[in-house]
Amino acid sequence: MPRLSGRSPAWRWPAWTPRCGTGARSQNLPLWQLLGGAQSRVPVYTTEGGWLHLSTEELVAQTLAAKEQGFRGAKIKVGRPHVSEDVARLSAVRAAVGANFDIMTDANQGFNRPEALRRAAAFESLDLAWLEEPLPAEDVSGHRQLRNHTAIPVAVGESMYHLNQFREYLEQGACSIVQPDVARIGGITPWIKVAHLAESFDVPVCPHFLMELHVSLCAGVPNATWVEYIPQLDDITTSRIRVEGGYAFPPDTPGLGIEWDWPVIAKRQIADVTIQQTKQTT
Ligand SMILES: [Mg+2]
Repeated sequence: MPRLSGRSPAWRWPAWTPRCGTGARSQNLPLWQLLGGAQSRVPVYTTEGGWLHLSTEELVAQTLAAKEQGFRGAKIKVGRPHVSEDVARLSAVRAAVGANFDIMTDANQGFNRPEALRRAAAFESLDLAWLEEPLPAEDVSGHRQLRNHTAIPVAVGESMYHLNQFREYLEQGACSIVQPDVARIGGITPWIKVAHLAESFDVPVCPHFLMELHVSLCAGVPNATWVEYIPQLDDITTSRIRVEGGYAFPPDTPGLGIEWDWPVIAKRQIADVTIQQTKQTT
């Protein structure tokens, strides 16, 4: 597998991904097959809604529409001023969609330890797929404490930027699901390392954002269980990922399978940027 070495994840993302795409293309393989080809499709949930400012009625309508469109789950933000508001909103959604539909929740690091414990206890009967970022990402022991007090899976990862942060969470039993973001952790190599590390702890990977690339990464590994549907690259790409029957399908074209709309991108360009690898010092 092609890779770059180095210590700073910050510069790897823009350089590595084209290189991996080139490697996959040179072998005439779609990326997901180059990475292992573990599954030909991955369940997909939507985050195109569920915002805190929406009314309960709007939340219910949006989630029902998502179910009607074939999504297998939807994410609802939590963190209204009082726990009873969150409970009322989630209860209304659960009553509307029924049991055979997954509800993910996301606190965006909004709770402190006692409030996270309180909210998780209040949500316990709603059969949530997970509670995402309940606490500040740096509070590993707080997440471990929460996980030990709730049956709701605790998901973390979108605010973590290094493999070793995931290792610490997994070693301490502080999370149930990992959500690495390929653009934040430094590219495909560290993302795959996180996924395989999580597999060794029997922990699923449900990446954050960037579905156009994550669908291939998820299909490459056996422990990816969800792709997050957020079509925010539509304005600058001409390709679309295939979503059918509640599943996202990785592209079968060699390489990344992402077709960039270069004329549109050129119009948005504000500066020329050249990325150079600096020499390693000893
Ligand atoms: Mg989130």
